Amino acid sequence: MTAAASAPATPITQDLLTLPRKPAAEGLVNLVGLTRDALRAALIDAGTPEKQARMRANQLWQWIYQKGVRDFADMTNLAKPYRAELSEAFEIRVPEVARREVSADGTRKYLVRIDGGHEVETVYIPEADRGTLCISSQVGCTLTCSFCHTGTQRLVRNLTPGEIIGQVMLARDDLGEWPAPGRNPKDETRLLSNIVLMGMGEPLYNFEAVRDAMKIAMDPEGIQLSRRRITLSTSGVVPEIARTAEEIGCMLAVSFHATTDEVRDKLVPINKRWPIADLLDALRAYPKLSNSERITFEYVMLKDVNDSDADARRLIDLIRGIPAKINLIPFNEWPGAPYQRSDQVRIKRFADIIYKAGYAAPIRTPRGEDIMAACGQLKSDSERARNPRRAAAK
Ligand code: SAH
Ligand code: SF4
Repeated sequence: MTAAASAPATPITQDLLTLPRKPAAEGLVNLVGLTRDALRAALIDAGTPEKQARMRANQLWQWIYQKGVRDFADMTNLAKPYRAELSEAFEIRVPEVARREVSADGTRKYLVRIDGGHEVETVYIPEADRGTLCISSQVGCTLTCSFCHTGTQRLVRNLTPGEIIGQVMLARDDLGEWPAPGRNPKDETRLLSNIVLMGMGEPLYNFEAVRDAMKIAMDPEGIQLSRRRITLSTSGVVPEIARTAEEIGCMLAVSFHATTDEVRDKLVPINKRWPIADLLDALRAYPKLSNSERITFEYVMLKDVNDSDADARRLIDLIRGIPAKINLIPFNEWPGAPYQRSDQVRIKRFADIIYKAGYAAPIRTPRGEDIMAACGQLKSDSERARNPRRAAAK
């Protein structure tokens, strides 16, 4: 996530209050995360006449995603007896914020508790021209990238669509961003204007749930974010890349991180399955398939591992012909990490070589480091305490 000199330095606060949320009620179907079709089907199942179901689903959709309403009793364009019927069959529930931390730079990290007592992290990064929410798609990760903190936590489970879009909704709750009556959220300069799927997990290993949640985020009658404001980051799950273009159509970022298969095999082990050449083929096809402008190449700067001038030149050769931006991410340390961040001079020199070849090469300023909210530092706190670093695959 790019930085800006925007956020005022506020003291670090640690808010241990649990915001009040409804616990899962037995037997009630949660409407959050259902696609429009699934919502309609659920209403019919619960007794809404088929002829009315489409209209009712639309009304509910607007209450839930446009206005942020959680209680059927507040849905004033529905008849009172119908509201009562709905509340007997359904609930509108987003995950609970177990803890909220605010960094000195304004970054907010939410420890989010989902059903089963599991936890994921969601990070909000305010900048001068945007507010980005970094959301998680899995509890832990099946992949074991050797520089990534999340990669030291085994996969516990995939998040549901409701838990994925729920992270957007709980951040909007915390930011107080549900529109006042009569105001169109499109008219406002939004606090939450962008989503990046760069939290915990590999989004393309939870494809359907991520797709359904992002469809809700993009829905013109819901959260209303443009597909250009949503970026999905993958470590390189090649077979799902074309599908991402076709079924989601959002912007794509790829965790590239190395310019030879030998090094990438160690940093991003999924490379052994889909090596650099295969990945590049899939990336080359993406902009046309998704009608998006360019791919973001993420490149974590690891001292003496992938940061030489030769690496920078190889990178340029590899991506030639792909509309691209290269995000250079100074390595964020975490306890027991087997790497060091490249020196600032080295990173600048690397950026310069890429820039001179005609590519944007911004260096990300880490955000929220003081609360372990920066890229690659996320990991459920409970896990952090009980699961020391496994041997590094350097
Ligand atoms: N699983 C997906 C998305 C989550 S990771 C993926 O790998 O793309 C989000 C980004 O943070 C990725 O580019 C990842 O490579 C990077 N990252 C992971 N650990 C990091 C660290 N310690 N320092 C800096 N960036 C890191
Ligand atoms: Fe998983 Fe991405 Fe971390 Fe790799 S970098 S372990 S894919 S979250």
